[in-house]
Amino acid sequence: MSQDITVGTIASHSALQILKGAKDEGFETVAICRKGTEKVYRQFKVADRIISIDNFNEFASIEDELVDMNTVLIPHGSFIAYLGLEGIKRLKPKYYGHKAILDWESDRQLERKWLERAGLKLPKMVDSPEKIDRPVIVKFFGAGGGNGYFLATSEEDFHEKMEKELDKGRLNDTRYIIQEYIIGTPLYIHYFHSLIMDETEIMSFDRRYETNVDSMGRIPAMDQLQLRIDPSYLVIGNFPLVVRESYLPKILQMGENVVEASKQVTKKGLYGPFCLETIVTDDGEIICFEISARIVAGTNPYVNGSPYTWLKYGEPMSTGRRVARELKNALNENRLEEVVE
Ligand code: ATP
Repeated sequence: MSQDITVGTIASHSALQILKGAKDEGFETVAICRKGTEKVYRQFKVADRIISIDNFNEFASIEDELVDMNTVLIPHGSFIAYLGLEGIKRLKPKYYGHKAILDWESDRQLERKWLERAGLKLPKMVDSPEKIDRPVIVKFFGAGGGNGYFLATSEEDFHEKMEKELDKGRLNDTRYIIQEYIIGTPLYIHYFHSLIMDETEIMSFDRRYETNVDSMGRIPAMDQLQLRIDPSYLVIGNFPLVVRESYLPKILQMGENVVEASKQVTKKGLYGPFCLETIVTDDGEIICFEISARIVAGTNPYVNGSPYTWLKYGEPMSTGRRVARELKNALNENRLEEVVE
């Protein structure tokens, strides 16, 4: 067993590959399940232990147990959504990652500053509806998974669609930003930055499968007009993807720049898995509209590794397993405390 550490996470999002990867690296694993979800984690044999709770807002009640098991918690998208920033900062068990980076990731203004500092190209922001002079996407703060986003082409269009969205009453935070809508191909770039090796690696790529925007092409334009369908962006799954090889140098540089810039704004900087969410335009520009500073579900097609991790490792290496490998390397060099908080 890898020096008595248990690797644990909340059973959702990318937990299957995180736990499988940890087992492959010789760790004990624990899945923290919401009651009723245990069967999947049992069936796929990824969890040595399962702790069930009624609701994740009771997470504090199991923290002592996790500490006793010497657990290192691995964050993912749902983990952060369920525990919230404050919950994560208060965690008693060890946590893989730099918590300070979450402040920069979760605040749209800070996120933008960070990405600008890294020299990335970002979509233009539009200050107010009157200034809409191009296609824009309106993003609500409280819109998990793109729910509620809408496109607008003019001020009038904006007000009409905004009213429609507010009428639905499904948003818990109605603050919004207006951003230039980039016409191009969505490309989600998965990286891993190793603090132990001091290296940024390209792990894989994906594109998302979103409802209903990805089905619009199946409806003839004439019918679309009649039905007045507005696109929505709720993520249903992810497709694996490889990019033109000639883009790789630029993509690697972007990842390195983001890590470098993160060191200027936080003590330890960004490390571990992260993702740049981009749109590639028809003149080859890579425009980044968001960063996720942790493992993304787009890595899930690669439980057995991606073409890129195969090139680098020559053995199955998911992003989940890469995290566990980092913990193992850190333990071997007596540097665990550097990568956990
Ligand atoms: P998550 O936090 O899970 O990444 P989200 O709710 O923040 O999701 P986004 O990923 O930001 O949602 O965006 C949802 C959809 O909108 C995606 O299909 C993305 O490609 C598209 N999108 C976002 N910003 C732009 C933009 N500026 N131009 C064109 N498309 C965009």
